[in-house]
Amino acid sequence: MIVMKFGGTSVEDAAAIARVAGIVQQHAKQKPVVVVSALGGFTDSLVAMAKAAASGNLPAALKLWRAGRQRHLAVLSGLKGSSAALEQVQELLGALQDVLRGIAALGELSPRTQDNVLSFGEMLSSIMVAAAFKAAGLDAVHIDSRQCIVTDTNHTKAIPLFEPTNARLRSALKDHLAKNRVPVLGGFIGATEDGTPSTLGRGGSDFSAAIVGAALGARRIEIWTDVEGMLTTDPRICKDARRIEVIGFEEASELAYFGAKVIHPATLIPAVESNIPVYVLNSRNPESKGTCIQAKAPHSTTTFRAIALKKGTKILNIKAPRLLIAHGFLRSLFEVFEKHSLSPDLVNTSEVSVSVAIDGSRDVKALVNDLRPLGVVEVESGKAIVCLVGDNIRGRIGICADVFQAVAKAKVNIHMVSQGASEINISFVIEESDAVRAVQALHAHFFPEEQLPVSAVGDDVYAGCAGVA
Ligand code: ADP
Ligand code: ASP
Ligand code: MG
Repeated sequence: MIVMKFGGTSVEDAAAIARVAGIVQQHAKQKPVVVVSALGGFTDSLVAMAKAAASGNLPAALKLWRAGRQRHLAVLSGLKGSSAALEQVQELLGALQDVLRGIAALGELSPRTQDNVLSFGEMLSSIMVAAAFKAAGLDAVHIDSRQCIVTDTNHTKAIPLFEPTNARLRSALKDHLAKNRVPVLGGFIGATEDGTPSTLGRGGSDFSAAIVGAALGARRIEIWTDVEGMLTTDPRICKDARRIEVIGFEEASELAYFGAKVIHPATLIPAVESNIPVYVLNSRNPESKGTCIQAKAPHSTTTFRAIALKKGTKILNIKAPRLLIAHGFLRSLFEVFEKHSLSPDLVNTSEVSVSVAIDGSRDVKALVNDLRPLGVVEVESGKAIVCLVGDNIRGRIGICADVFQAVAKAKVNIHMVSQGASEINISFVIEESDAVRAVQALHAHFFPEEQLPVSAVGDDVYAGCAGVA
């Protein structure tokens, strides 16, 4: 069997859903399990509804809810023969309105309640997509992910509990697959052991697809999106970003972690453990070969495979009170980070101070208070991390000079540098306002135009990619 995950833009309207039905039909022989996101942009709209309700502005929340209802009903009516789903969709929309009214009455939004609101997006889309598949002649069956993906109670970024999840997925899906049915699940959502809806973090449908794939021993996991595959950088930054044909798990993980939004950073964890190749494909151009992410990729023909950019970074500078950092200082420092469940993105140390780059969306007040006994703490916001990934970095004399010369030419100042922690990346921190200019300069330097697409060394670069269609 295979897993096919379709993101928000791939199911944004009736035409897109019909296109998805066609793609799945073409793969029917490979026993697909389908995972879908909420309709494009609807999760953002659910967040806005919940926030408006919590702030006491119920009319604004209901205005957004009405727009959402109209959108879903319009999509449904544009899908042939899907009236069977109408009752379920109406019921869910009614329940969503009740939840919003409840939030407004309480005047607060807990992470648990936010997950409840957000879960409606994927519940609605998966029911509609399953109905559209049936209308298109596929023997589709809707599976409620909240019954299968069991998570901890870390709402808004819940972590799956793999043992019960794997067991439930197998028992919910095996029979259907044996009968050649096409199960359709909502991505991103699950439930805690007591049945409370939870979510896997924004962009988490990719992760859901990988969880399903690993549980069922899929031949491959396909992430269908709105671009040609994993590209050499974010195409919104560089229009000439080009498709990577093959990339290794480790390199792809680093890129995802450092901002390549095309796959959720956790996606590759289950895939690596079960050694299942992951494909990134374009639902608007299904004939294109996309990108194959596999355990080991052949060497890249370019110096780097890709460049990622992570905005919204903070730097914490901790200066030791004495001239030299005392024995045990780093241990104490990381104990504080551990206490706050915060893993640093980059760390630099000197004799007298330590700089740590962290995700800027975190509130650091409590962390800073706990760090103060260790030294003078300074917080710098508005930073970005640029990360260049490739399998040819170690041992290449002059590679850093090459990177930093390109950055210097773009007149960008560098605050922190890291190379060597993993053999496959060079990362550095700069001002967020310089980030786009830096990435554009690096991309122009390392991916000159004649290289299209980014290939790997060898005659058949896809040779190791099991199950290429
Ligand atoms: P989906 O809704 O299908 O999950 P996302 O919006 O989450 O899609 O991810 C796809 C988007 O990721 C692309 O449209 C692109 O703008 C962005 N992106 C960022 N970095 C990369 C990259 N290196 N390769 C491809 N896409 C990237
Ligand atoms: N719909 C969710 C989000 O927008 C999950 C996903 O699309 O992967 O974050
Ligand atoms: Mg996504």
